[in-house]
Amino acid sequence: MAEILTGAPVIKDVKESVNKRARHLMANGINPKMSIIRVGNNPDDCWYEKSIIKFCKETDILTNRIELSEDAPENELIDAIHSVNDDPNVHGLMLFRPLPKHINDNKVRMEISPSKDIDGITDASVAGVFVGKGIGFSPCTAAACVKLLKFYHIPIAGKHIVIIGRSLVVGKPLSMMLLNENATITICHSKTLDIENICNRADILISAVGKKHLVNAKFFNDRQVVIDVGFNPDTDGRFVGDVDFIEAERFVKAITPVPGGVGGITTCILAEHTVTAAELISKIKLK
Ligand code: NAP
Repeated sequence: MAEILTGAPVIKDVKESVNKRARHLMANGINPKMSIIRVGNNPDDCWYEKSIIKFCKETDILTNRIELSEDAPENELIDAIHSVNDDPNVHGLMLFRPLPKHINDNKVRMEISPSKDIDGITDASVAGVFVGKGIGFSPCTAAACVKLLKFYHIPIAGKHIVIIGRSLVVGKPLSMMLLNENATITICHSKTLDIENICNRADILISAVGKKHLVNAKFFNDRQVVIDVGFNPDTDGRFVGDVDFIEAERFVKAITPVPGGVGGITTCILAEHTVTAAELISKIKLK
């Protein structure tokens, strides 16, 4: 049976480290703070917002919420972003997306100061991921996958990693981050031919698609580590990943569960980025 790579011990580890760093900043007169901007009341956003605020509270990071109505004009959102950019007491900004259709996402996300872009959505952050360093931050879900692999001491350098999905939120940045870690990367997407035979040769298979049970027995080999980023509503109201967990568990070397795998780590990364932003701005860092 496969080893189950749960997110809980990773979350505990990050929580301790973030809290230590936040306390060190506080001892030096800096209170790390995250602003959250939400347009409308999407239930998924509200749920995620609650979990972010809870994690921040537990790690001594201050939060404040800016809630705009679903029909708020674009310039109201831009003003809100500028107010966060200009506030020296706020170190990180989380903007919920997708935004309502009347708002130009491409225009708005670029208004975020890259030094406060803790969710990695500005072009400066994307460029930083490609270069391997720079201003801005890596997208949190991609960073969560790397964090999990490293926590479980899964070798990355020299390994063949297949990523299914090429979004700017997960697949593309993750491929660059793992390339920077010296993995050999293959990216698959909806037009990839013979996807099963590409995937079943991977040392590490990462699925970030959003389709229940897309990844089945034909995708696996018995020395494979499988990371399931997918988060899909099931018919019974629960959530499942992209991977057929029952089949994978019998066959592969290790696998992340859904829920309880990569998902929760994303919130920790947001908090970690906030503390890093506060350290960079204040030049105060725990040795
Ligand atoms: P997305 O923007 O919709 O991208 C999905 C990707 O999957 C696209 O690149 C698409 O290919 C590819 N794809 C679709 N059908 C495919 C198929 N049959 N075979 C191979 N590839 C296929 O989604 P996303 O935002 O990256 O999110 C992906 C999943 O991760 C979702 O389930 C989402 O809920 C989950 N997610 C979880 C977290 C978290 O846990 N914290 C955060 C973000 C996302 P094309 O490019 O060709 O269309």
